[in-house]
Amino acid sequence: YQPQIEAESGKIVGMETLVRWRHPKKGLISAGEFIPLAEETGLISALGEWILRHACMQLREWLDKNYPPLVLSVNISGRQLDDKRFLENIRSILHETNVPPNYLELEITESAVMRKPEEVIPALETLRKQGINLAIDDFGTGHSSLNYLRRFPVNTLKIDRSFVNDISKSPQDSIIINGIIALAKSLHLKVIAEGVETYEQKMYLKEQKCDWLQGYYLYKPMSADMFEQQAFFNAKVTNF
Ligand code: C2E
Ligand code: CA
Ligand code: CA
Repeated sequence: YQPQIEAESGKIVGMETLVRWRHPKKGLISAGEFIPLAEETGLISALGEWILRHACMQLREWLDKNYPPLVLSVNISGRQLDDKRFLENIRSILHETNVPPNYLELEITESAVMRKPEEVIPALETLRKQGINLAIDDFGTGHSSLNYLRRFPVNTLKIDRSFVNDISKSPQDSIIINGIIALAKSLHLKVIAEGVETYEQKMYLKEQKCDWLQGYYLYKPMSADMFEQQAFFNAKVTNF
């Protein structure tokens, strides 16, 4: 789980679930290494359901322990959206774990949404009607037309980290960032920047009124145990 902070206050307000494979010999394998394979083989449907269930169970445990409520983001592959049972599965997972739908945010990459927008939009609408939050991940890399963007029933734009990475290097990319933030504001969407690795990037994004920030400079992804020790402790401290 990687904490996400509110830029204005520095307070932890959310977390992104980033799956790891604990391999008996190879150790911890990152999502980037095995998720593409799971997508290719179709295993992503079963794996994605398992991830969502476990993340919701974890959030339930934290809510029961009276930790401050945080928004839980979970990545969803395009392949999962194709699965007819997906919407039903989400409904039953939320029911089983008794997690309020507005605590859950599903992240779908811009390219996954743009692959078959006409098919994806009704599925997104169903999720939104249930009160689940939706974010477009890797925004800026997937060629969505502004016309589609207006029709996507999403709450959040997540600026791709390549643009964040270039903040200090090229003024041109700062212009893109400013543009995305302005676009999000005009569409009344929350905007979050990922891959924040330096103080300079953090300060720039805060100045530009980016709502939420996430990245190694703030917090690295951590196990649930570490999250309890570090993040919830900090969430409380920064609160006061
Ligand atoms: P993503 O959704 O764009 O996730 C962000 C990736 O950037 C994560 O890599 C995260 O560990 C890494 N990251 C976080 N902060 C920083 C930073 O400051 N700098 C840099 N350079 N990287 C940072 P990870 O965990 O290897 O995940 C890679 C991709 O795998 C994710 O990209 C996402 O597309 C996918 N993924 C991860 N977990 C899941 C999952 O549960 N389900 C599905 N379907 N996909 C997942
Ligand atoms: Ca993501
Ligand atoms: Ca991303």
